Formats: sequence, C-alpha cells, structure tokens
Amino acid sequence: DSSSEKYEYQAEVSRLMDLIVHSLYSNKEVFLRELISNASDALDKLRYLSVTQPELLRDVVDLDIRIHTDKDNGIITLTDSGIGMTRQELVDCLGTIAQSGTAKFFKALKDSKEAGADSNLIGQFGVGFYSAFLVADKVVVSTKSPKSEKQFVWEGEANANSYTIREEIDQDKLIPRGTRITLYLKRDDKGFAHPEKIENLIKNYSQFVSFPIYTWKEKGFTKEVEIEEEPTEAQKEAEEDGSVEKKKRTKKVIEKYWDWELINETQPIWLRNPKDVTTDEYNEFYKKTFNEYLDPLASSHFTTEGEVEFRSILFVPPVKKEDMLNTKTKNIRLYVKRVFISDDFDGELFPRYLSFVKGVVDSNDLPLNVSREILQESRIVRIMRKRLVRKAFDMILGISLSENRDDYDKFWDNFGKFLKLGCIEDHPNHKRIAPLLRFFSSQSEDELISLDEYVESMKQEQKDIYYIAADSLTSAKNAPFLEKLSQKDFEVLFLVDPMDELAIQNLKSYKEKNFVDISKEDLDLGDKDEEKEKEIKQEFVQTCDWIKKQLGDKVASVQISNRLSSSPCVLVSGKFGWSANMERLMKAQTL
Ligand code: ADP
Ligand code: MG
Repeated sequence: DSSSEKYEYQAEVSRLMDLIVHSLYSNKEVFLRELISNASDALDKLRYLSVTQPELLRDVVDLDIRIHTDKDNGIITLTDSGIGMTRQELVDCLGTIAQSGTAKFFKALKDSKEAGADSNLIGQFGVGFYSAFLVADKVVVSTKSPKSEKQFVWEGEANANSYTIREEIDQDKLIPRGTRITLYLKRDDKGFAHPEKIENLIKNYSQFVSFPIYTWKEKGFTKEVEIEEEPTEAQKEAEEDGSVEKKKRTKKVIEKYWDWELINETQPIWLRNPKDVTTDEYNEFYKKTFNEYLDPLASSHFTTEGEVEFRSILFVPPVKKEDMLNTKTKNIRLYVKRVFISDDFDGELFPRYLSFVKGVVDSNDLPLNVSREILQESRIVRIMRKRLVRKAFDMILGISLSENRDDYDKFWDNFGKFLKLGCIEDHPNHKRIAPLLRFFSSQSEDELISLDEYVESMKQEQKDIYYIAADSLTSAKNAPFLEKLSQKDFEVLFLVDPMDELAIQNLKSYKEKNFVDISKEDLDLGDKDEEKEKEIKQEFVQTCDWIKKQLGDKVASVQISNRLSSSPCVLVSGKFGWSANMERLMKAQTL
C-alpha cells in the first residue's frame, strides 16, 4: 500500500545512533565513506547476481555511484544503481542492527569504557548507514529492488526513535533500480554540499571503490564569440583605406555548464603493473580493503602465468587480531574477472594456519558463478592455493631478510604460533616453514635464533640438533640435562612455548639433522665408552635396585647415566613416552 507507515527502531538502534553521533563527532566526514561503501556493496551484490540472472541488468546497465550536491539548500543526494531494497529489507536493514559490521562496532563501543572518539575503532569497523545522521537532520532513502514492482521511501530524522516507510508515487522521483539517499544537512554541516568537498573526501576515503563515482560539477570552457563592438575611428580608417584587413571582432568568454565528472580511478590496483604502484598506494589499498588502520608489515603483488593465470596482492598485517584462529577471518577476497565473488572460505584457497595473511585474488579462469563445491573440487583452485602459499612464504621470508631486524621480531611475536601450527598441519611445506621458525637457545641469551643460525654454529663432532622443552626460560637454563652439553659447548634449543615441541616433533629434522630431546633416556652424545659404562653399571646395580624399590611405581626404572656432570641424579622421560612438557600440555588440554 502507498500510505506512510511509522515504525519504531529496535532499541539498540537508537542507542547506536546516539553513540555514533557522540563518539564520532569530530570525524563526521566518515558518513560519506559509509554511504559509498554501502552503495558499492549494493552494486557488488547486483553484479554478482546478474551473472546467473542477466535480466537484472535489463533496465540500467551502468553500475555506478552519482553524488549530487545542492549548496544553496545544503542537500547531498547519493544514487547507486545497485541491488536496492524491498520494503521488508528497508525495515530489516535500516531499522535493526543485525548487520555484522555495525553490530561489531556497537559491541566494541560498548566495551570501551569511555565511548570517546576512538580513531582505532573508526578504522576497524564500518559504522554504517546511521553515520548519515552525523551531518544530516533528515535522511530519505528511496529505493527500488529488482525483486519488487514498487519503489519505497524510508525517512528518518536525527534524534528520533521512529522512521516512516511509504511508496514512492512522485513520478519524477522514480528510479529504474537501486537506491537514492538524500541528506538534508544540519545547519553547521551544509559545507559538505560542495562538489570539491565531496571530491576530496572520495579521494581520501573511497579511492579503491571499483565502481565509477561521479559528482555533479560545474564546468566551463572558453570560447570565442563574435561581438558587435564599434571599431575606433583610427581602426575604421585603417580598415577602409586597406592598410589593415577588416577585423572580425571577437571576445573570449567562459561558457559554464554542469555535468557529471568521474572522480575515482576504477582500475583495481592489482591489475596495474607492480612497478607503477607505490608503497603508499599498497598501504592505502590494504587499509581500505580490510578496514585496518595500521600499515601492513609486508606486501607482495604478483601475476602468475602458465597453467593457471591469476593476479594477487598479499599482505602481512602488522598485528594479530585476537580471534584469528577461531572465527572465519575473511582474509582472502576472491574476484573472478574483477567481479567480487566471496571472502568466505574455509581453507579452499588458503590454508587456515596462514589465515593471518590477507589479500585479494583475481582469476580469469574460474567461472563467475563459482560455488563452494566448485572451489573444493577445482584443480585450478588447488594450483592457485599452492602458488598463493608459496608467495606467502616468500613474502614472510622477505621480512626475515629485511635489514630491520625489528620487523621480523614483530612478525614472529604476532604470528609465530601460526607457523608452528603449519609444522603440524602442512607437512609438504616443511621446507618453507622451518627456516622461518625462531627459538631461544642455551647460547643466545634472550635472543631468538633461526635453525640456520643453529646449524651454522654446530660443533664439528655434533650430529644432531638438541632441544629441551620447559615451561620457562629459567627452568630450561637450570635443567640438569644441560650440563653435559654445555661442557661440550653444544647449543641446545629452549622450547618454552607449548607449541614449540609439537612443531619440532613434526619437523623431525632440519637440513638432514635430527632433532633430539636431551631429556629423553639414551641420549647419545657420541662419546660412549662402553667398557667403562659396563663396569660402573655393575658396580651400582644394587644401589639402583634399592632406589627403585624405594620409589616403587613412581618411576619406570632407575639407571646409571653418563649425562650428568655435577648433579647426582635426574628424572628423564622414557624413549617412547611423553616428554615432561608434553605431559603438561596434555594435562592442560584435558582440564
Ligand atoms: P553494513 O554495511 O555493515 O551491513 P550498514 O549500516 O552500512 O551496515 O548498512 C545496513 C544494511 O542496509 C546493509 O547491509 C544493506 O543491506 C542495506 N543497505 C544500506 N545501504 C544500501 C544501498 N545503498 N543499497 C542497498 N542496500 C543498502
Ligand atoms: Mg555499510
């Protein structure tokens, strides 16, 4: 029906609007970024659906965003030819907060004690549609979904707890498809209704939107017009007696007119030649695309050719997000022929343990209507995955080779755990992961070392790579097992992170040298004197029996060992049993 109907906002919405208006007051201009990003999402959705339903594009083929400003009346109108909304969608989308981005922002704002203007929050979350009320007293959304015959109008005012929806009946206001948002600016914010202002904001915030954004702009060109101007007496005489040619009298004037002007560059950055893209541009692209506020630690832009062709840019973020391993990270955005397909994968394109790496992938070889099943079955996807993983490791290796050692320390600090997980989950890539690992050692003080560094400083007579797992550096340093090895000046890796030992046990060896746990029984340091050992064993056989009797079931056996130099005895794990550290781990997991 066409009559206007009044709706109450869901309670959270009113609170959210309040929070947004108060916390983002000094960052009002984000409203444009939010509205453009919604328009771009709506265009993406339409483009995606039109792959299987080309009739959706019937009415208007151009997918674009147009921003019109009326400075005299302080009005901004933003029109997209995207997917639009039905009446019900208007209620669901603009009256409740079920949407992910907005809901997250809401929660984060609630969680932060002071709901002050936190620029980190602003960078991390889209604040969404309601940010329009940062600058507008009244917002009108007129929208037409291809699913609906009718166009509907949502109308809301700042500081209100209700909004209205009616059918659009004004013939002049009908649009073929998409959404037109009209902002009636607050008195103090009317300055936003200038094409130049809008242009600056687009360049600042929405540079990487992949649809054309136009602004309605006054233009001018100079032209010569003939004028009827009387020549001076002298000119007249000269012309008449033929000493000068008769002159046409013209004047230059500037012809003014209004027209749409394209503001953004719509070629995606990944299609450009890497040589022409600056680090700044990569950084900006990363931040805009993944809603981040810090520059990435590294990036890698590449094209692969041959069997499978695709382009990609990968990034290593500067910091870890808390929930990286637990939730879907949406870290890889897949495009097919520039059409955004999905960022909702579960290891098909990129292994989960590398989910901290973010990136975009654009393939010409996949079908546009690629489904999850296709992704799982596809040989092309398998090849892509393999190449992406290699590139990711190259990029990480790049950080480790950087002159600035801090970079890799930072990387390791944030993402070391993920690589250790890789040792467990991705055996085929052990060769690539192992050189990236870092450990403390008996000779490195508080610095982490790489396995290459370890191997390089191995003693000539040393065959294996030694390690001990402990719950802290202090207990590792004080372990009696170390004595003999220190005497020989053999370096021992200190595995103090619970995952270290699992990683090492999965690797088994590095550069053909086995990892050996120095706390396990029968440690062979290559210096056995069998004769002497036999003698000593004979001599102490009764002592051992006696101790075993005293300890009973608490130990499996009591043996003479040559592994100690100053401590009288040590508890060791059996050759095939859990190490003490693993036992701790297992216990922790079952608790
Ligand atoms: P988010 O973009 O994080 O989902 P928003 O508050 O920005 O949250 O937008 C809420 C919802 O409103 C969007 O998810 C979308 O469904 C709908 N919406 C907003 N703007 C448009 C638009 N221009 N065209 C179609 N739908 C839109
Ligand atoms: Mg949004």
